[in-house]
Amino acid sequence: MGINHVTALECVLCERQYDPDRVVYTCPEHEGVSGILEVKTTTTSSTTTSTPS
Ligand SMILES: [Zn+2]
Repeated sequence: MGINHVTALECVLCERQYDPDRVVYTCPEHEGVSGILEVKTTTTSSTTTSTPS
């Protein structure tokens, strides 16, 4: 079980990063919705792939 923590929103076009607290899902630098923001997350994965013998 991993908890995804949104750290930043990064534009796929200009790689500009935005604060995830501001609910913006597109980069205002581009026309319309061309500047999609990629959600950057940090996954806290504690190795749960262990198989009990
Ligand atoms: Zn952009």
